[in-house]
Amino acid sequence: MTASAQTTVTAAPPAAPALFEEWSGYLKPEDITQLRAAYQFSESAHQGQYRKSGEPYIAHPLAVASILAQWHMDTQALTAALLHDVVEDTNVTKNQIAELFGRPVADLVDGVSKLDRIEFDSQEKAQAENFRKMLLAMARDVRVMLIKLADRLHNMRTLDAVHPQKRQRIARETLDIYAPIANRLGLNSIYQEMEDLSFSHLYPDRHRVLAKAVRTARGNRREVVSKVLDSIERRLREHGVEAQVQGREKHLHSVYRKMREKHLSFAQVLDVFGFRIVVKDTTACYVTLGLLHGLYKPIPGKFKDYIAIPKANGYQSLHTTLFGPFGSPIEIQIRTADMHRIAEAGVASHWLYKSSNTSLSELQQKTHQWLQSLLEMQSESGDSVEFLEHLKVDLFPDEVYVFTPKGKIMSLPRGACAVDFAYAVHTDIGNRCVAVKINQELMPLRTELRNGDRVEIITASHAKPNPLWLNFVATAKARAHIRHFLKTMHFSESVQLGSRLLQQALANFKAMPADVGDAQWDRLVRDSSGRSRDEILSDIGLGKRLAVVVAHQLLALGEPLPAEARPAGAVVVRGSEGLAVQFARCCGPIPGDPIIGIISKGQGMVVHTHDCPVIAKSHRDPERVLDVQWDANPSKLFDVGIRLVVANQRGVLAKVAAEIAAAESNIQNVAVDPDDGGTYTVMRFTVQVMNRMHLARIVRDLRKIPEVVRINRIKG
Ligand code: MN
Repeated sequence: MTASAQTTVTAAPPAAPALFEEWSGYLKPEDITQLRAAYQFSESAHQGQYRKSGEPYIAHPLAVASILAQWHMDTQALTAALLHDVVEDTNVTKNQIAELFGRPVADLVDGVSKLDRIEFDSQEKAQAENFRKMLLAMARDVRVMLIKLADRLHNMRTLDAVHPQKRQRIARETLDIYAPIANRLGLNSIYQEMEDLSFSHLYPDRHRVLAKAVRTARGNRREVVSKVLDSIERRLREHGVEAQVQGREKHLHSVYRKMREKHLSFAQVLDVFGFRIVVKDTTACYVTLGLLHGLYKPIPGKFKDYIAIPKANGYQSLHTTLFGPFGSPIEIQIRTADMHRIAEAGVASHWLYKSSNTSLSELQQKTHQWLQSLLEMQSESGDSVEFLEHLKVDLFPDEVYVFTPKGKIMSLPRGACAVDFAYAVHTDIGNRCVAVKINQELMPLRTELRNGDRVEIITASHAKPNPLWLNFVATAKARAHIRHFLKTMHFSESVQLGSRLLQQALANFKAMPADVGDAQWDRLVRDSSGRSRDEILSDIGLGKRLAVVVAHQLLALGEPLPAEARPAGAVVVRGSEGLAVQFARCCGPIPGDPIIGIISKGQGMVVHTHDCPVIAKSHRDPERVLDVQWDANPSKLFDVGIRLVVANQRGVLAKVAAEIAAAESNIQNVAVDPDDGGTYTVMRFTVQVMNRMHLARIVRDLRKIPEVVRINRIKG
C-alpha cells in the first residue's frame, strides 16, 4: 500500500516495545536487537507518511511483522516485514538494506517490492490461475509470499479507510488471487479471514444478511452444540483420552459459496454441526474415532482418513460424519496438535524459528524436504499428478509468466526469449517481428524473458524471420515456424531464380518466354513424373535441372524456332537470392569483380570471379556456365579477406582496426601471426564491404598508416 501524504492527523505510534516483549518469547536477545534496529530504521524512513486511516505509516509494517510473529517466523522474515515498504515508498535502496541488515533480508524486501509492482488488471477469470502461478514463481523464497500474504491481510483488515472504488478492486484481487494462494499453501486461518473480509467489501448487503442469519442460528443451536459437546467429552474422559473438543463454525464466505454452488438454502447449509477434537498422538486419533462411532452412528461413506493419505497442501486429520441426537448430521475432525498447526498455518508452520544462524539454504532445503515428504505420502492418492503439477509450477518453476501489452498473461518455458513470445502470440507476429520493448525499454529480440515482464513486440510488414533466431529460440512452436518460413522462402526464391535462368536459356535459343505456351508446359509437367511448373523452375534454380535442357525440351515441344536473332542477356545477381545463389569461397567475388555463374548439381548457382583459379583448372561443361552480372545496387555486404604486412610495433593492430571502422566497414575476423621477435608481422582480416570501390577506399586509408608496409586482397 502506498502512503497518503495529504492526511495530516498525527496519532501516537503503536506500542512497538510491547510487541518486542511478546516476540522475545521465542526469539533470542540478539534477534530482538536487530528487530529494534529495523523498526527504528523503517520508522524514520517512513517519517511524514500516513495511512489512509490517519495512523503513522510505521503501524502497517509493524502489524505485518506481528502477523508473521504469530506464525513464529524467523528473524530475517520479521526484519524484512518491518522494512517491506521502504524500497517502494521511500528513497532507501536495496544496497542500503543489505549493508545494514544483510543480503538475505534485502533479497526478501526486494522480492516483496517486485510483487507489489504487479497488479492483476485482467477481467478474465481464466487468467487468475496463471496470475497466481506467476506470483508464486516470482516469490521463489516461500517467505516472500508469506510476507506478501501478511501484508495483504493487514491491508484487508484496514480496508474501511480506503476509497470505495479501490476497496472493490483490492477485495476482488484478494478473493481471486491471494486467498487461493493462502489456501494452496495450507494457510487456513488467513485464507478464511481473507475470504470473509473480501466478501464483506464486495457484497456488503449479502454479507450483513448472512452474518445476522448465522448469529441467530447460532443462538438456536447453542443447546444442541453444548449437549453434543458434553457427551463427547464425557465419553473420551471415561476412556482416559486427553482431548480438547471445540464446536466449529463455517466461515461466512464458505456458507455463501455452498449456497450458490450447490443451490442449497441457508437452512440446508447450516443444518450441520461441526466439531474439532485435538488429541496428543496419532493412536489417540483412531481411538477417539472408535469411541465416537460407538457414541453416535456414523453416516456410511463419509469417513476420510487424511492421516494415512494427507491432502495436497499437507493437511492431515480424520473426518467422519455422525447421525446426531436431533437428526442433524455432525461433522467431526480428529487430529493431533502438530496436525492442527499445519492445518491452520500450512507451509508457514514449517518455517518455525529455530536459531538465528540457520542459513537461508538450510531453510529452503527444509521446505524442500517438507514438500518432498508430502510428495511421498501423496504418491498413493489419486490426485498426486495434480499435486506434482502444482509443486512443480509453484515452488520449482520451470515456466515464466509474462504480460502482453493488454495485460493478458502468457506462460512460456524457462529460457524463452522475445521471439518465442512473438510466435506464442501469433504466427504473423513472429514472422514479422523486428524489435521488442520489455518493460517499456527497447531490448534485443534474443533477450530471455523473466517473470512479470511486460512484453511488447514491434513488427514491420516487410520483415521476415531470420535463420539466426534458430540459435536462441526455446519453444518448438517458434522453431517450427521459422524453419517452415525459411523453407518456403527458399522455394519461392529458387522459383524466381529458375524462371530467370530459363528466360536466359530461352534467349540463347533466340526465343522469348512468350514463345513457350501453356500447352508446352502442360506436356513437360506430364513428362516430369508429377513435378509442377513451379517445382521445375525451383529445380532449375537449385541446379537440379539445367535451364538450357529445360528450354530445349520446351521449345522442342512447340512451334519451330523463329528465325530472327535476339541478343542473349546476362543473369543479374543482387546477393539476396538466398540459397539459390552462392558466392564461391575459392575466389570470394564482391560487386565490381567480373563474374561468371556455374550451375552445380544440388547447389543452385555458384558465382565465381572470371579469373578464379579453381574454375580455370576444372573441366567446364559449357551448358553449366552462365553469363551473370552484378545488380546496380547489391542488397547485402560481402566478406572479403585482406592481408597486411606491418611493422611489429605496439598498438598497430588497434590503429588498423580503428581505420577499418572509420571506413564504415565491419571486421568479421582477425588473425595475427605469432610474434617471433622479427621486424614485420602479418595480419589477416575478414571485413565487410559493399563493393570494390568500398574495398579500394579501405585499402587507401590503411596505406596511410606508417607501420603498414604492404597490403593485398586475399582470394581463396
Ligand atoms: Mn505493505
